[in-house]
Amino acid sequence: MKKKKLIAVCGMVVLITIFVVSLSANQSGVSAAPFKQRIWSENSLQYQSHHFYGESLHIETEHTSPSYRLIHIQSEKEYLFQEQELDKGIELETLPVGEYAILLDDAHVEVATSDTVSQTWHTVSRKKNTKSVQVTTRDGRLILLVERVKQLPETIYDIVIDPGHGGMDSGASGSGLVESEVMLELSVYLAEQLEAEGFKVKLTRTADVDPAGDDSYSLEESPYYLNGRIEQVYQHEAKLYLSNHLNATEGQLANGFQIYSSVQTTNELAQLLSTALQQSGMEAATHDNPGAQGEGTFTKVDTCIERITGQQSCRDTEEDYLYAIRESGGKLTSAQKLVLYNFAYESTPNFGAEGILIEYFFMNNQRETELWQENWQTYTDAIVQAITLYLQTL
Ligand SMILES: [Zn+2]
Repeated sequence: MKKKKLIAVCGMVVLITIFVVSLSANQSGVSAAPFKQRIWSENSLQYQSHHFYGESLHIETEHTSPSYRLIHIQSEKEYLFQEQELDKGIELETLPVGEYAILLDDAHVEVATSDTVSQTWHTVSRKKNTKSVQVTTRDGRLILLVERVKQLPETIYDIVIDPGHGGMDSGASGSGLVESEVMLELSVYLAEQLEAEGFKVKLTRTADVDPAGDDSYSLEESPYYLNGRIEQVYQHEAKLYLSNHLNATEGQLANGFQIYSSVQTTNELAQLLSTALQQSGMEAATHDNPGAQGEGTFTKVDTCIERITGQQSCRDTEEDYLYAIRESGGKLTSAQKLVLYNFAYESTPNFGAEGILIEYFFMNNQRETELWQENWQTYTDAIVQAITLYLQTL
């Protein structure tokens, strides 16, 4: 599917051409032959690496597989996962407590390794149902240990919410409003409502400051400093990162919300957000943008991302253009600036959050601004409804 349209984001109007590949993914529990009959050691595949993205796990081996089969060792029940998009893979939230053998489904063999692998990740808090998931090794096999935990470790959060801009960077303005202030008000209320639903939520800032501190403010580098808006995603091992912004254009009167998600994920969360916002009375962006997925949802991609300050390099594959989405997702979304600007990180983390960026309305559109001021809490409640639906049912 090829799309070529016109986009307006934060006052910038750009024209790009992108290719969007839409793939389906399914997951289901199925039963099969007893696990004990499998002779893994004679016919295994070598583990290379693993990655957490949101609540999904991805495993790389010498063989590229489109699907995984996890076998619950105690009950021998099997769970099949397709991997086409980053928000799929092994969907950790669906796995009951226990130990799992990991097989590449098309090869029907286990993943083996002589490395010592051990990393713990957490699923999102669902009312009294938070789980720790450990990727580890035992007797040369890669296994998954799923355990229930009463509460998340102190530094771990489910969701990081970023009120855009702040401090020396006030963002866009219009109709007497300032983006950094309006987005702080929205984000604080949003965090409170999500916490009331049982999620553990971290705001990147709670005042009109840059999250990393104004003393060392740099538009390019601050997001990656300690407590910077991207660094916090990794520090708190967030599963979802929501970046809140407002739009403005010069000259033309544009309207409607724009919801951006990664080109590597399904459009599911963006679509749920769009539906909820429209039902609450907001209008989806109607102007002809590149990367439009429909009903105010978009991807924005580039093959030439500035990888080192002042230098661009290009690849054959598309990457997310918006740093909030690309740089918060870890290695799998080609994040690279955390390591570049924060010397505490020696390599790009093998984990990251599912990133969403929302531009709620156009500040130079008087009608949209008035509607926002009258109804912003209703609109925010719609965001809570969509996130709750996504995290509890998928
Ligand atoms: Zn902005």
